[in-house]
Amino acid sequence: MHELGTIYYVIDTVEKLMVEHDLKKVSSITLEVGEVSGIIPMYLTEFWEYARAKTEHFQQTELKIEELKAVTYCQDCKQTYPTMQYGKECPHCHSPNTFLVTGNEYNIKEIEAM
Ligand SMILES: [Zn+2]
Repeated sequence: MHELGTIYYVIDTVEKLMVEHDLKKVSSITLEVGEVSGIIPMYLTEFWEYARAKTEHFQQTELKIEELKAVTYCQDCKQTYPTMQYGKECPHCHSPNTFLVTGNEYNIKEIEAM
């Protein structure tokens, strides 16, 4: 269950930013979620509804979720390709010598203050 942990991370991080930047209210938070992070956006939205009701600052805050495309790099032909489409085998040279560059993480991309 990554989703609830993600929500608490978002709340903690944004609360710190609000103090640092002296923000009173946040109207929306945009979260980028990697395609292969194992996080299900629908669950994030549900948990957000549940968690924000208990917060002091985020009662009205909307959580926007953007998908971050997964990209894999091939160590043999030095090219990148979309992970979801081709998996672990490079479509250019068919090498299995590849690693994930992005797509396994989540980041707070944007915060909109009121
Ligand atoms: Zn390759």
